Amino acid sequence: MKNPVRVAVTGAAGQISYSLLFRIASGDMLGKDQPVILQLLEITPAMDALRGVVMELEDCAFPLLAGTVISDKPEEAFADADYALLVGARPRGPGMERKDLLEANAAIFSVQGKALNAVASRQVKVLVVGNPANTNALIAQRNAPDLDPRNFTAMTRLDHNRALAQLAGKTGAATTDIRQMIIWGNHSATQYPDISQASVKGDAAAGLVPREWYETDFIPTVQQRGAAIIKARGASSAASAASSAIDHIRDWALGTPDGDWVSMAVPSDGSYGIEEGLIYSFPVTCKNGDYSIVQGLEIDAFSRQRMTVTEQELREERDGVAHLLP
Ligand code: NDP
Repeated sequence: MKNPVRVAVTGAAGQISYSLLFRIASGDMLGKDQPVILQLLEITPAMDALRGVVMELEDCAFPLLAGTVISDKPEEAFADADYALLVGARPRGPGMERKDLLEANAAIFSVQGKALNAVASRQVKVLVVGNPANTNALIAQRNAPDLDPRNFTAMTRLDHNRALAQLAGKTGAATTDIRQMIIWGNHSATQYPDISQASVKGDAAAGLVPREWYETDFIPTVQQRGAAIIKARGASSAASAASSAIDHIRDWALGTPDGDWVSMAVPSDGSYGIEEGLIYSFPVTCKNGDYSIVQGLEIDAFSRQRMTVTEQELREERDGVAHLLP
């Protein structure tokens, strides 16, 4: 059996974590031969609820769960963490403007970035799920100057998976028949789900579906899927967000399949003309615990325009918290 790895999760008593923790502990994220120690962070008022979650984790008797730590102090929860899944974030309250939300979260994620910088493993892989996820990841990264900036990522895998499901439904295929889907940009309604590179059972996806469906149905459906789930369920998507977080870390750690890629929001290196440093979703392949942005894809005018809109939104979010960035 391998040595246990340390997985820190914030917002650990929340809805997403209620699905996420049990799947991490059962080996869905890092493999059925990889023991894990869960290091769970919550705000002080949620510690009782978190104790209840830990009781349930114990009651599952997961063979791979090698230990559990709970804390309301980031320096304890992130100590020696190999993975950090930052799920907890301040939700938008009544009368709160977008700017207030950005600032409230900037405060949380700057504290967490500093704590990661101080105590986490030097190779810690960070996934931000809490919204606004891309900009929260940027804030944490900027506050962790001693860690590899490339190890700060945000989740667009749920959008990627939603896009696979929509295209599979339309073409009567299975999601596993689809390759090379892309989500570009921000995890928000400006994201650009792009099928121009995708194939279904080896045939170009763009040739299998009407262009009009793609532009007026597929793209907005993927962009608005979160809101549609809130409307139907009366609560935001939680199990699917958790499942996509598992997919994101699993593929980053264990690799993407040959001939395919996934979408991850990662620090831009200037690829495709996207401003360097923004945490922007790109198609990436993963191998040996590292990711690379897929290079050389042809970008047509339609794609470029949409990629720029979502880039612009990320610039505005960053500029909105610039005074809080070190
Ligand atoms: P959830 O677990 O449902 O959501 C957590 C975060 O994930 C939110 O910011 C949410 O954004 C975001 N998110 C990203 N993608 C999705 C998606 N597809 N569907 C739904 N949410 C998504 O929230 P809860 O309120 O149930 O739990 C949050 C927990 O975090 C609470 O227990 C709170 O105490 C804790 N918390 C912990 C902190 C810490 O550890 N320091 C700091 C702040 C909060 P959105 O709001 O846009 O839905």
